[in-house]
Amino acid sequence: MATIPKALQDVALRVARAASLAGRSADSVRLLAVSKTFPAEAIREAAGAGQKLFGESYLQEALEKMAALSGLELEWHFIGPIQSNKTRDIAEHFDWVHSVDRLKIAQRLSQARPQQKIPLQICLQVNISGEESKSGVAPENLLELAEQVRGLPHLRLRGLMAIPRPTQEPQVQREQFSQVRKLFDQLNARGFDLDTLSMGMSEDLEAAIAEGANIVRVGSAIFGQRTKSKDNP
Ligand SMILES: *Cc1c(COP(=O)(O)O)cnc(C)c1O
Repeated sequence: MATIPKALQDVALRVARAASLAGRSADSVRLLAVSKTFPAEAIREAAGAGQKLFGESYLQEALEKMAALSGLELEWHFIGPIQSNKTRDIAEHFDWVHSVDRLKIAQRLSQARPQQKIPLQICLQVNISGEESKSGVAPENLLELAEQVRGLPHLRLRGLMAIPRPTQEPQVQREQFSQVRKLFDQLNARGFDLDTLSMGMSEDLEAAIAEGANIVRVGSAIFGQRTKSKDNP
């Protein structure tokens, strides 16, 4: 296994190459390092190599790592499923949430966001693979949810996040990401001011960047394979 700094360098190269093929600059894509299940020391190592954005999916684990790393100036993104009893801690400790898919969760996040902090930056998670996944708002309900979330005072709606059905077929990957891109364009055509498309992971970041992703969420290509457990299915 490559060291974390070397793996980060390799991912940065993949991002730059994909951006260049799409006629975009490398710095139009931000790399979110998904550190879920990996220890605080792995994050410290990545931060030492210049990585600033980290993504976590499990609240308790994330809070422990944040406390251990409080001296570092990192930007924390929550990307996992959200239960309502977790909204207070998420709103207090994170900078971004990518996985908002219902109004009730958005309302609770807005209520719990400390007033002295800037608004919590929000992406709505869209379910483009239909029945196969329970997470994410269905495309036909996206506009209504986006309108409701836009009205909440302590949130700022930034864009969309999606986790398409995994496939090795680049054409299918592109097709799925292009659906998300179309939804994003439709919202902006209706007067939204979205600037963030959070899509692409270790296996499919090239296809996502080709379709306009500007945050890619990369875990295993940076930190190595995650071991599966009952808390990490
Ligand atoms: C775990 C996770 C990732 C990272 O996946 P890799 O395949 O390890 O790059 C990205 N996004 C979300 C929402 C995740 O839960």
